[in-house]
Amino acid sequence: MKRNIQCNACGRKIKEENGLLREDIFEGKKEWGYFSRNDLKVDTFYLCEDCYDKLIANFLIPVKREDKLEVL
Ligand SMILES: [Zn+2]
Repeated sequence: MKRNIQCNACGRKIKEENGLLREDIFEGKKEWGYFSRNDLKVDTFYLCEDCYDKLIANFLIPVKREDKLEVL
């Protein structure tokens, strides 16, 4: 099943093979709630790794990044 995922920031198509993405991407999903202008809206977007790195490089406070202890 093809999902035809594109990076929302740069528009690049993410390569897929047999329904699996051939690269790792950031997947953002937010269900907005009551105290929000966007109440009852559900937002979803994808960022390729390059765009993700560019985005977090602009953060005032860096993302929390830990080493994974085990690879499943
Ligand atoms: Zn991108």
